[in-house]
Amino acid sequence: PMATQRVHSIATLGADGIGPEVVDAGVQVLRKLANLDGTFKLEFKDYDWSSETYKKTGKYIPDGGLEELKKHDAILFGAVGAPDVPDHISLWGLRLAICQPFQQYANVRPTKIFRGTESPLRKAEHGDLDWVIVRENSEGEYAGQGGRSHRGLPWEVATEVAIFTRHAVERLIRFAFELAQKRERRSLTVVTKSNAQRNGMVMWDEIAAEVAKDFPDVKWDKMLVDAMTCRMVLDPRSLDVIVATNLHADILSDLAAALAGSIGIAPTSNLDPTRQNPSMFEPIHGSAFDITGKGVANPVATFWTAAEMLIWLGEEEAAKKMMDCVEAVTERGIRTRDLGGSAGTKEVTNAVCAELEKAY
Ligand code: ATP
Ligand code: MG
Repeated sequence: PMATQRVHSIATLGADGIGPEVVDAGVQVLRKLANLDGTFKLEFKDYDWSSETYKKTGKYIPDGGLEELKKHDAILFGAVGAPDVPDHISLWGLRLAICQPFQQYANVRPTKIFRGTESPLRKAEHGDLDWVIVRENSEGEYAGQGGRSHRGLPWEVATEVAIFTRHAVERLIRFAFELAQKRERRSLTVVTKSNAQRNGMVMWDEIAAEVAKDFPDVKWDKMLVDAMTCRMVLDPRSLDVIVATNLHADILSDLAAALAGSIGIAPTSNLDPTRQNPSMFEPIHGSAFDITGKGVANPVATFWTAAEMLIWLGEEEAAKKMMDCVEAVTERGIRTRDLGGSAGTKEVTNAVCAELEKAY
């Protein structure tokens, strides 16, 4: 049977703060799952690139590092960012330095309320909020275009230019429609700010209408980003898949994570839908230095991240089993502090492993 076993090679990159803690927890659960399942094998290779590396060598990624990463089927990422490194340096130094060359143009962010957990929305409970936000991950407001002149003078000017290309917008909106088509409710909301921004955002609206013609079975609508924030709070059940620009989706997904109960549960996938490069999977939360090393970080976001990674690698069944076990654990009240519980990272991780033993 070994000859027919599927093998997936995973690069792990814990990076900064609680990143290595939650990635370790994720790897522990993944190893357990693969052992119990037996139909596929996971091989892990760890890379210790971080803000510490940057402070010592001036680089986050060593020479040849990207070629090395490219050999793997997927990347499981922790978090990047350190108190003594400016955020734009760490973000561009590691995360975007992988996303951009690997063409991970679709950033997919599912949100839901776990069984046994509470949303700050008074009336919302498990099942009422079940969204996937698709974020443009290659250009837009974070294209790094623009500049500054007359530095420090009273008439200093800075421009931050958003770039929108038909190519990138079309492929992303098409990806979002395809994703919506695969979900039960088959509904897509296209978010822009086309009343105030009359170039790129109007082009987004036009492209959405064009692409929609190829998906007659998907119900879709358009929404301005400001109105969207209200709708997410007031009418969460009306939303399914949401597609938005790099900046808008960045903001909406933090709101989504908070509405689901904690930033400690939400995953995000940076996908290269062409599959020419490995895709990268990470929890939505940051490096959280305030709780680093204390053993209290919620590993659930990384478990969900790991499940999304397995789905991408074709292991849907195992991923579903794993998520059922994670929810069984939150439902039983084994939760970290951010979810109102008192368990530590290890306790939650071990409980999920024990649940997996029962499931197989
Ligand atoms: P970034 O700039 O990288 O997004 P940030 O400083 O904006 O980082 P986080 O590092 O995500 O945000 O932390 C925000 C808050 O959420 C902190 O109080 C942190 O302790 C908490 N937090 C983040 N992730 C977790 C987690 N996995 N478990 C528990 N609490 C978390
Ligand atoms: Mg943040």
